[in-house]
Amino acid sequence: MADVPTLKPGIPCPCWSGRKIEDCCGRFGDVRHPQHLPPSRPSRTGIANRRCYAKVLCDCSARLSTEHYISRCVLERIEDSGGVFASGLAWADGEAKKVSAASMGSRVLCSQHNTDLSELDDVAHRLVVYLDEVNDVMKESRQDQHVLGVNGHDVERWLLKALCGLVASKNARHEGVPYPPVVPEAWVRILFGHHVFHGTRGLYVQGRIGSHQRIQSHRVQLAPLTSAGQVRGIMVSLSGFELKLATTDVSPTSSGALDEHTIWRPRVIRFHSDVAESWLCLHWDEGCSDKSINMRWNPTE
Ligand SMILES: [Zn+2]
Ligand SMILES: [Zn+2]
Repeated sequence: MADVPTLKPGIPCPCWSGRKIEDCCGRFGDVRHPQHLPPSRPSRTGIANRRCYAKVLCDCSARLSTEHYISRCVLERIEDSGGVFASGLAWADGEAKKVSAASMGSRVLCSQHNTDLSELDDVAHRLVVYLDEVNDVMKESRQDQHVLGVNGHDVERWLLKALCGLVASKNARHEGVPYPPVVPEAWVRILFGHHVFHGTRGLYVQGRIGSHQRIQSHRVQLAPLTSAGQVRGIMVSLSGFELKLATTDVSPTSSGALDEHTIWRPRVIRFHSDVAESWLCLHWDEGCSDKSINMRWNPTE
């Protein structure tokens, strides 16, 4: 069982409502992190907008909108650092190559489908702000309890949204040549909450034994993960914290890792220094590794 922190009264609720835990989820004895799924509508529009990558759902609006497939809040950091990387990255290792940040917004979704996914951007925003806060907690050696809880499936769907955007906008490349801009129907169905990732697909978090988190504030990297000429996932690094999404089955090692560097669907990631600690708790509605990752944090100024 993952070592989940015992939450003390008086701390801000991990659901990020802004209330104290005892006035919020704590009243019900359990912090809930439901998925942010698109709203259900009484009927579909019947439109398949040919330029929308979710056209297979036959529920498009006629208008396209500019979709920042890396959420705007994250994009702003990319602009700050110039650290966008979008060339193909072989599974599990390699250096990504830099491409322009301007190409991260693209007209690949209709406005209805874009709006349906807007809550995933909030999830990404929380993660980015959280990582900055962890850095402050570590730097100032604060002893207060610092926790963020998010739904893990939301994190997966946010990564998938970034991947769909990369592929649909032809920004997923191998040696300068774009992969075909075809977003598989299975990805679309998962992204819009009709299906889920099965097997060993889904989120992998860097969790090498003895790993140190080297924070690189305001730095974001992303790259499609490829093997055998196919796009099979995406890597997104937020301030140096690396998340990977596998869209095809991988064979994890017996320890539940993708390789010795990554853990499938961890439940808790504990960042710590000698005195301070902070938890990122992931809620899974189904199927997770029940593992926790301990990571030493090296704060930056
Ligand atoms: Zn709450
Ligand atoms: Zn659409």
